Amino acid sequence: MSILFTDCRLLLRSEGVYSVMDGFLGVEGAYIDYIGKDRPKKGYSTEKRMGGALLMPGLVNAHGHAAMTLLRGVGSELPLQDWLFGKIIPIEDRMIADDIRWGTLYAVMEMLACGTTCFADMYSFTLEETEAIEDCGIKANICSLPLICGDPTLEAHECDRILKAAEYHRAIDARGEGRILSDFCVHSEYLSTEKTLGPYLEIARELGARIQIHISETEKEQLECIERHGCTPMEYFERSGALDNPVCAAHGVWLTDSDIEIAREKGVTVAHCPSSNMKLASGFAPVKKMLDMGVNVALGTDGCASNNNLNMFEEMHLAALIHKGDGREPSAVSPAAVLDMATINGAKAMGRPDCGRLEVGARADIVALNMNALHMRPALDIPALLCYSAQGSDVLMTMADGRILYKNGEFLTIDEEKVTAEFERCCGRLLG
Ligand SMILES: [Zn+2]
Repeated sequence: MSILFTDCRLLLRSEGVYSVMDGFLGVEGAYIDYIGKDRPKKGYSTEKRMGGALLMPGLVNAHGHAAMTLLRGVGSELPLQDWLFGKIIPIEDRMIADDIRWGTLYAVMEMLACGTTCFADMYSFTLEETEAIEDCGIKANICSLPLICGDPTLEAHECDRILKAAEYHRAIDARGEGRILSDFCVHSEYLSTEKTLGPYLEIARELGARIQIHISETEKEQLECIERHGCTPMEYFERSGALDNPVCAAHGVWLTDSDIEIAREKGVTVAHCPSSNMKLASGFAPVKKMLDMGVNVALGTDGCASNNNLNMFEEMHLAALIHKGDGREPSAVSPAAVLDMATINGAKAMGRPDCGRLEVGARADIVALNMNALHMRPALDIPALLCYSAQGSDVLMTMADGRILYKNGEFLTIDEEKVTAEFERCCGRLLG
């Protein structure tokens, strides 16, 4: 299958600088094989006239809990610890595999409709639910069995999540021609114990697995970790050896300067989640400082109970704005930096070096954006338009690995009616 996009504008990136070119983009199989101002000599099996739409890289949601769509709106206006332990975990304890499946598929629809082609997910998955995501054609880094443990007496040999970690990882990793990758996951310092963390990390090290961790999301987490261990969460995970693997640290709101230095030195990605941090009143992550110090910063929505949607354009908007207001510095985080966070930086964190940009030889993860919307004229500065004006609803088409998954309001790989009905059924059982 090959497709040539014509009558379109292309958002290109060269040495960190974004530019826009009117031209043609060719896709052969899963890859982009042509970008140019002139029509390619090669013939393509399908040609699509895009009506002046902007083709841009698919968005990468670097932190979330997809099936939390089921909990959208639960526990608003509460601080994180009361929200998590008082409202969220009691419902999550009642969740069964069926809920995860339909909650996640519903989330995938929401993400595709807003231009996300790849997402990192921190929830428990069995092989069955993984296959359901695989069939949608979206890319996902899935945590098969996150280490979540609040019982300091539990020994590693009693912990199912440790005993099955390697087996699940091998069963899930690289499914769907590599669209599905398996990550290890330590929920957080406050939901891990010394007895279980070491043995879990040992397995991750043997497998060379990426690890997703919530790090320094709230001041309370930061201070209690210092009280418990005499060090910050970032230092705690460095000492435990977790940072010797590729780590994506969600939030990083309360990172100290020396934590940021550790992140830079260890190549830790920080997944910035501005909506969630604002909604749970966690604070402003030091994003400008992290960027200045050379940390790879990505962007995520977090789960739907703390956001309450999976629209990456909204995260881009907030990431571009809040640090200007907080630091009273209009150049704090530039549109180019935000675009990097939402695409190439997230792809890097998720072990996908050939994703996150429009380039010959890169994966064909492409979003077409409506440039005829009222709020998109005049198109003087397109990176700025994408951060300050564009809406998720401007997405006309979402393609991953050369396959169109969403087009003009329709899902081509998902039965929207069935997923919505099953999602409603799960919501009713869990929340009713
Ligand atoms: Zn989270």
